[in-house]
Amino acid sequence: MTEQGISNLSHEDRHFDPPAELAANANLKAEAYDRAAADPLAFWAEQADRLSWGEPFTEVLDWTNAPFAKWFVGGTLNASYNCVDRHVEAGNGERVALHFVGEPEDDTRDITYAQLKDEVSRAANALIDLGVQTGDRVAIYMPMIPEAVIAMLACARLGAPHTVVFGGFSADALSSRIIDCDAKVVITADGGYRHGSASALKPAVDEALLKCPDVTGVLVVRRTGQDVDWTEGRDVWWHDVVDAASPDHTPEMFDSEHPLYVMYTSGTTGSPKGILHTTGGYLVQSAYSFWSVFDHKPDDVYWCTADVGWVTGHSYIVYGPLANGATQVLYEGTPDSPHKGRWWEIIEKYKVSLFYTAPTAIRTCMKWGEQIPAEHDLTSLRILGSVGESINPEAYMWYRDNIGGGRTPIVDTWWQTETGAHMISPLPGVTSGKPGSAMTAIPGISAEVVDDAGKPVANGEGGYLVITEPWPSMLRTIWGDDQRYKDTYWSRWEGYYFAGDGARKDEDGAIWLLGRVDDVMNISGHRLSTTEIEPALVSHPKVAEAAVVGAADETTGQAVVAFVILRDSAVSGGQGDGHADIVQELRNHVGKEIGPIAKPRTIMIVPELPKTRSGKIMRRLLRDVAENREVGDATTLADTGIMDKITAGMTAAKNDD
Ligand code: ATP
Ligand code: MG
Repeated sequence: MTEQGISNLSHEDRHFDPPAELAANANLKAEAYDRAAADPLAFWAEQADRLSWGEPFTEVLDWTNAPFAKWFVGGTLNASYNCVDRHVEAGNGERVALHFVGEPEDDTRDITYAQLKDEVSRAANALIDLGVQTGDRVAIYMPMIPEAVIAMLACARLGAPHTVVFGGFSADALSSRIIDCDAKVVITADGGYRHGSASALKPAVDEALLKCPDVTGVLVVRRTGQDVDWTEGRDVWWHDVVDAASPDHTPEMFDSEHPLYVMYTSGTTGSPKGILHTTGGYLVQSAYSFWSVFDHKPDDVYWCTADVGWVTGHSYIVYGPLANGATQVLYEGTPDSPHKGRWWEIIEKYKVSLFYTAPTAIRTCMKWGEQIPAEHDLTSLRILGSVGESINPEAYMWYRDNIGGGRTPIVDTWWQTETGAHMISPLPGVTSGKPGSAMTAIPGISAEVVDDAGKPVANGEGGYLVITEPWPSMLRTIWGDDQRYKDTYWSRWEGYYFAGDGARKDEDGAIWLLGRVDDVMNISGHRLSTTEIEPALVSHPKVAEAAVVGAADETTGQAVVAFVILRDSAVSGGQGDGHADIVQELRNHVGKEIGPIAKPRTIMIVPELPKTRSGKIMRRLLRDVAENREVGDATTLADTGIMDKITAGMTAAKNDD
């Protein structure tokens, strides 16, 4: 173990080769790595050919004003045209773009590319009537319904950057984002269906707008039919103005660097940052990565369970798949409404072949038990994806075996709101994937793991993850704050983008993400990562989920404190009350799996963990609990009441041996 690097404790020997047929027909083959490395800009120019351009670009990258990049300089394009119209013009208008599945049973709707083109054009015309002009910002606060996708594409069509705010957020979170990017119009709905009932959205908009006098129009979709307050002169119904608008709208071509959207980060490690993405580079890389990492073929049916309020919903529900003319499922609700087999039922019904979800969801399904997916025919699946955090080997194996029938490669995709698109991931037809590793940078991307001095670490060692070359879908700045952009991402090592994550390279050079550098614990001089200890806890048969944090400790500097959710079976077996047996059992288990240094000092059995909207654990809040502090900024929690439930339902057991 090194003093400076991050310790490397876990070990994984399993790996899975791509199925032969998938490898033989893969969109991107092994040769692409060398080709891209030899001339990255030529490689990206080739990827840019996936799109339809108005004016062709004259230069691939202008990096003279680093870290402010310009990609595909001089080129013009329209993102909405690329995602919709051109597929219709190519004769694919009858292809289904969206298989919408509402949460209430039998509430489904298929939308073809031709229909999508009409709807997007109508919505664009309605937005023009509401006064939206090129460059104006539009906030979108919606449930997971087709109108959310249509609204985003309508904004893109007008060159009016959207900022999508997760529908689960509070009025405060909404107003602070509207104010930060100075949005002029808000698109919302009366409500949406989640957890088996209609939940309201419009009241939060009304409350938020008390603080946002500059918003002049609110476009409201009627989804649930619940009563809403109405502000005459400001609020209009979607079905009044969009349905009445013309389905003809000629898209204007915008400069490649025209702003496409502002997306706020999840707020896992601090206050959310407004990340600016522009049009050309972003669309090139989201289209290319969707095509290569999911090996997308025209007859695939794809489904990403993310919310559009998260960057994954932008790049891998809207822009990447639609730029490829994909057919996809869009599901409104939760995985357990009205029963815990809902997702698998949908996969069976639509013969989903590419499925993309988050480790937290997989662990929830594990907790419910494998008998639930076993009731469904999931043989249509050919590739599974994971995003949002490292997938612990236990969940990887469960996912592969119980959802993928032991056949499907898993693409563990590492990327960020800031990176805009996939950066580090297996290629499903090339890579021999290891459970828990995102493997290597995709062709075109240069990633490295470095030490404090910015020198690459040797294989087998840990350090900081950096991106060493600019990439097309990189953030262009933090909205309105160029200095914070430079300071946050580009100041630590000259010329390197610092992602804020720790990582290690294994003996083969594969990259293993170790979580946030901010979350690294220092136990008696050993720097341990959360990503190594948490999977060890989850590998115990009684544990469903675990989060660990470092809390101040007089003897060891910091001590490991673990928050553990037990599996349903363990709880009903009478072990769930946090009594000493289970706690001792878990401590010993961690000691055996990774070593005595990693044994948690304290284990708290909890009913829930605090998570962001994208399902990531907010360890900074748990650190507050572990150190008996008042809990910090929790506005981006998916469920803001969760911290109370956790402290109320918590049973702690401390053990100092
Ligand atoms: P904030 O930046 O506000 O703290 P956030 O980092 O959680 O929020 P996102 O941009 O949604 O916001 O998440 C990106 C982060 O998610 C990455 O930096 C990384 O820590 C984690 N992540 C995403 N995918 C993976 C993956 N496949 N493996 C490991 N970590 C991942
Ligand atoms: Mg981040």
